[in-house]
Amino acid sequence: MAKRVRPQRRKRSVVLRDIVPPATLATDLYRSAYAPVVQGWSDAADRIIAEYARTLAQITHDAPADVQGQIDQAASLLQRLILSITPSLRHWALRVEGWFRGKWRGAVLSATGVDLQTVIGPEDVRDTLEATIARNVALVRNVSDQAQARISEAVFRGLTQRLPANDVAKEIRGAVDMARTRARNIAADQLSKLSGSLADERRREAGLDTFEFKHSGKLHPRSWHKERDGKLFSENPDRVGTKVDGKIIHAASEIPPGDGASQPPFCGCRNLSYMIFD
Ligand SMILES: [Zn+2]
Repeated sequence: MAKRVRPQRRKRSVVLRDIVPPATLATDLYRSAYAPVVQGWSDAADRIIAEYARTLAQITHDAPADVQGQIDQAASLLQRLILSITPSLRHWALRVEGWFRGKWRGAVLSATGVDLQTVIGPEDVRDTLEATIARNVALVRNVSDQAQARISEAVFRGLTQRLPANDVAKEIRGAVDMARTRARNIAADQLSKLSGSLADERRREAGLDTFEFKHSGKLHPRSWHKERDGKLFSENPDRVGTKVDGKIIHAASEIPPGDGASQPPFCGCRNLSYMIFD
């Protein structure tokens, strides 16, 4: 008689493949929405610096040149520019959505053999995309306003203390550099946030209530996010406290609002969808 095959213990769960947003999508966001504003201030900086030097030279006379006018002119130019970036942002958000949906389809297909291609589309996540677009318009405006404030401050202090044009020029260019660095960081963060929101939405849409928290592995982690790494959380109260494949399931509500994966500033953590076979 053939040796009886030991019945294999049925695997009770499968974690869906991690979906990591590629840095190129962050670069695309920076280029299409943030870089024009940074470039606008970079161009204006030269004019403002020239006008500052002229003002400083004339300051002992009756009619100092209008350096503030240069700043105001740049600001209104950029206001108009910001009003026109919404289509680029929409284009970007739709690209990210399409990319994510393709990865999600692949992850579900390899885990279950079910192909979602004809079942899901961009319209399912329209609110998230619109919120992302609006948020980024506000952030671009904020980057521009902050650059303007720093430049104005440098000019004002320069004029008050009669600082040499070279010193003020250095500060103004520094303000533009800060805007560029901040905008790049924001673009990367906004990509994480959109990708994180899409992951949660697609998971819920597929009827999956449980996820594994995956820490970003970033250099300066939030310690409590690192502690959450690998833990399972469920939005289904019936699962809380039960075990699956030796892991205890925690309540998703243990995670404070706004502190979930990718939600706090510059958090690169992700929720991996978890499929449990009951
Ligand atoms: Zn985190």
